[in-house]
Amino acid sequence: MNAARQFEQDARRIAVDVPLHQVLKKNLATYQHAAGLGRERFADWNAARAQAHAVKAEAIAHLDRYLLEFERNLTARGGRVFWAETAAEARDYILALARRRQVRQVVKSKSMVSEEVHLTPALEAAGIATLETDLGEYIVQLRNEPPFHIVTPAMHLRREHVAALFHEKLGLPESVHEPEALVAAARAEMRRRFLAAEMGITGANFLIADAGLVAVTENEGNARLSAALPRIHVVLTGIEKILPRLRDLALFWPLLATAGTGQAVTCYNSLIGGPRQENESDGPEEMHVVLLDNGRGELAADPEQRDILHCIRCGACLNICPIFETVGGHGYGTTYQGPIGAVLTPHLRGPRFAHLAQASSLCGACTSVCPVEIDLHPHLLQLRRDSSRRRPWREQAAFRAFGWLAGDGKRFEKLGRRGRRWLRYAQSLAAPSSRLDPLRPWTRYRAAPELPPESFRDWWRKRKNPAATNDAGAKAAHS
Ligand code: SF4
Repeated sequence: MNAARQFEQDARRIAVDVPLHQVLKKNLATYQHAAGLGRERFADWNAARAQAHAVKAEAIAHLDRYLLEFERNLTARGGRVFWAETAAEARDYILALARRRQVRQVVKSKSMVSEEVHLTPALEAAGIATLETDLGEYIVQLRNEPPFHIVTPAMHLRREHVAALFHEKLGLPESVHEPEALVAAARAEMRRRFLAAEMGITGANFLIADAGLVAVTENEGNARLSAALPRIHVVLTGIEKILPRLRDLALFWPLLATAGTGQAVTCYNSLIGGPRQENESDGPEEMHVVLLDNGRGELAADPEQRDILHCIRCGACLNICPIFETVGGHGYGTTYQGPIGAVLTPHLRGPRFAHLAQASSLCGACTSVCPVEIDLHPHLLQLRRDSSRRRPWREQAAFRAFGWLAGDGKRFEKLGRRGRRWLRYAQSLAAPSSRLDPLRPWTRYRAAPELPPESFRDWWRKRKNPAATNDAGAKAAHS
């Protein structure tokens, strides 16, 4: 089944899943409320957004220069950098490294890029046991599901779901539902695996060019354990995560925390600058940074769309999107969901994902909350324009006909009058939402609005000049 069909089918099914929507509605409202309070802590939130936009614009416009600077500074301390053009190259590099070093166990912290390149299934297929150590990721891994949300992977689940899962997979008594006990069970399992793993894989929230540092932000401490305990640390990240200067973090750390979860700053912010140095007592023996392009370079070369690469994956646009609330993260069928997923995925995975641009009400809420001022809904419109030639011929013909109709005021009025008459006649023959109802695609799921007694034009004429519109009113009453 093609991606657009699959999306439509999944969206129809998920949109009527009432228990899921109860969980989602509550969780999304909680995040929105927290982020709203967090924004108030800023002296000028919009000035911070504008500054962040300017920094990212500078970074993406000079991506080559800043990435090379990052590489130079990191390799000077013994780190290694691999440039992966495609998802397959990134995967193969990590797999080959794991095989060369006889890695049997991997611990991973949350990384959407690792989802993008399907790293865990590849490692597992090679016989390398791979454990997700972010609690939400761990839960969805046990359920054999992809993350539901780029920041909160298990947003769709209640505590009871987790209790039942841990009972089935970890052997916890069925009666255990308290969050502390559930977390303690996951923690015990993870600690054992942290100590046994030979390789730790993390993502990166930011790459700092002038310092050659990888900045990792998290709330659970699992990323710093993944980076520090195993003898090999691999960072897998997209090239767009670059920031020019270390001091830029003073803006981006609080901005990311506030937009994503409403926190003033996330609990753990680590700066990692290479493997263990001679005068250090702990840390990995090797550190590799895999810089993934996978379509990003091409996007960076497009001055009109490159701001899509400003994204810091805070998740705010998902949390506020009415479509995300309706179809949920799994409905999109993509690694990146919500408005940012809809604009980014066609660039990463090709035009067969252009249908995602239709998954928007174009309300603009996503654009208004984005902490780096990405023009999300204008990008959605652009994608719709770009993909209009690939729409089904019936849709294209319908829009051409509408263009012809709406292009002439008199014609529009005349045909509108006839159309209303026809609709009235059709509705007198068929009950709303019955199989004969011409508006059935709409009335099947919604109450049809009543046809007004007159058109807006007639109403307007009457209002402006009541005496001269007796005729028009009489005509309208019959239209
Ligand atoms: S597009 Fe903006 S709001 Fe959405 S995840 Fe990225 S940074 Fe956050």
